Amino acid sequence: MISSGDLFVFTGISTMQARIPGLGYDRIWQRGYACPVQGCGLQSVRDVTDLKRHWREKHEEIIAKFHCSACSYVSKRKSNVFQHFRLRHNGNMLGNSSESVGKVEYQHNKQFIDPYPLTLESVLRYKD
Ligand SMILES: [Zn+2]
Ligand SMILES: [Zn+2]
Repeated sequence: MISSGDLFVFTGISTMQARIPGLGYDRIWQRGYACPVQGCGLQSVRDVTDLKRHWREKHEEIIAKFHCSACSYVSKRKSNVFQHFRLRHNGNMLGNSSESVGKVEYQHNKQFIDPYPLTLESVLRYKD
């Protein structure tokens, strides 16, 4: 179970200032380089999309799961639920995506590797 207190802490970390004193540039990710999180072990990240996906899987402590409001479909990505809903349930509601997402569940990430002191924002800010 995740208390609201935990979620608050999580939000605080993700909005932390990007500037990290004493952090060497070897820890800053660039296209094609390894994930900058110590102990992660991912050797090469193709691009920003790849890094964001990887970050969500390994370096976010809380994973959100979005449920379709009309069936048992579940996805980690809200956009997948939108797409699913359009295709499966109602092609006429193209513009009204807010009705497609039902329950949102928060789960502890079992694969979590603490990226501290890095955040996705800090890593992306220093790229190139
Ligand atoms: Zn990583
Ligand atoms: Zn559905």
